Amino acid sequence: MKICIYPGSFDPITYGHIDIIDRASKIADKLIVAVLNNHDKKSLFTVDERVEMIKESIKEYGNVEVESFDGLLVDYAKSKNAKIVIRGLRAVTDFEYELQMAQTNRELENDIDTVFLLTNLKYSYLSSSIVKQVASFDGDVSKFVTPQVADRLKKKYNKYFV
Ligand code: ADP
Repeated sequence: MKICIYPGSFDPITYGHIDIIDRASKIADKLIVAVLNNHDKKSLFTVDERVEMIKESIKEYGNVEVESFDGLLVDYAKSKNAKIVIRGLRAVTDFEYELQMAQTNRELENDIDTVFLLTNLKYSYLSSSIVKQVASFDGDVSKFVTPQVADRLKKKYNKYFV
């Protein structure tokens, strides 16, 4: 069974991420979307909220699971018996960092390969940070995230305004 891991911060999940999940789910027998519990990166949503939002977005996929993880990605992948890490590429700007990460992971664990998938062009400009910026100014994010995520963003930022 080909188990693939799609790791990331997903703060929050966008249609760009969902597009990658959709593509990866066709390659993997089982796809695990793994939310990094990143202690030093300040995130808007808690790890549990991020996991919940992903779960709400991927209900239709029978072979996709969501979990959170701590520590080294290669250790987590090994514990899940996964040999393939999926990452999305939006533009050349992503490439340098992604290459560095992939090479480091290869050094740490030679058996694990990173597979890069290209998003649909219409999502190639999308990032969680841009979505957060728009939402923080009460802008319309309906083209970028699911209605459930848009709702949660609204609540999060309204909380700061009252
Ligand atoms: P990280 O903090 O690990 O970069 P992100 O949640 O920002 O986590 O992204 C997770 C993965 O999804 C990364 O491989 C990133 O390049 C990819 N990704 C993010 N947004 C998009 C998008 N719009 N299209 C394709 N891939 C994307």
